[in-house]
Amino acid sequence: MKILLLVVLLGGLKSAEARHDQATHVTALWLNSMHSLKCSAFNGLAPIKQEEQAVSDIQIHASFSMLMLSAIVLAIALIRERRHKHRLQELAHIDHLTSLYNRRYLYRLGKRLLNRSNKGANSFAAIMLDVDHFKQINDEYGHSTGDQVLTQIARACIDECRPSDIVGRFGGEEFLLLLPNTQLSEALIVAERIRVKITDINIDSNNPSPQGAIISASLGVCCSNQETYLDFDELIKRADEAMYRAKAAGRNRVQSLSH
Ligand code: GH3
Ligand code: MG
Ligand code: MG
Repeated sequence: MKILLLVVLLGGLKSAEARHDQATHVTALWLNSMHSLKCSAFNGLAPIKQEEQAVSDIQIHASFSMLMLSAIVLAIALIRERRHKHRLQELAHIDHLTSLYNRRYLYRLGKRLLNRSNKGANSFAAIMLDVDHFKQINDEYGHSTGDQVLTQIARACIDECRPSDIVGRFGGEEFLLLLPNTQLSEALIVAERIRVKITDINIDSNNPSPQGAIISASLGVCCSNQETYLDFDELIKRADEAMYRAKAAGRNRVQSLSH
């Protein structure tokens, strides 16, 4: 029962330090209650002999040490469990192939950031990127080379962005970039830099294509700003539309959609 009480008290606390303080406090309380119990048990009876007192003190100290040890073990277990939970949460947000944010997390984070940006009357840009003829790359070089290409495209996007920008894998061979505090003209420059960088990707130097294939992507850019503040779904829809215009215009290019 006492241990259960200890578990409940420790579980609700945040820091290891706080848990330790609480463990000490609970131990002291328990020790006090044991003392009172002992006193009331002997109250009215013959005075405690010195040997009995010594044995009783040893037992109390042993119990105290055991309790302290249990509290420490419990605190360590709780900290580990919390870290493990945090790690699992992180993994649930990350795409395992590219290590970028996954679509679900992009939506969650994007909605929050865009809301804040619109309220603060700031501009917020989105870039939707789709790899051109990616099915052919898989067919010609194999799926694992295709995976390597996706990883390199992810790298190119990260390299051309600021640390405050959000880069995610939106779907199979589609990537979404969210650029807070960015005007359309600035986002177009970033998109163009990414486009050029992707064409530099070396596909599989051990197995060159007879046609000398280059990797390319089509990118669509749009922006939520003082002209029109968009919600997240609208922003994504427009970036997607711009990307399809880039495809229709011949691929390997950047297109924007202004309001
Ligand atoms: P488009 O230029 O019109 O975009 O043509 P596309 O071939 O890129 O588009 P399509 O939608 O026809 O094909 C996308 C391909 O991407 C098909 C799918 O097998 C491949 N793909 C999706 N996810 C992955 C992945 O994780 N790894 C690999 N290697 N391929 C993937
Ligand atoms: Mg696609
Ligand atoms: Mg594609």
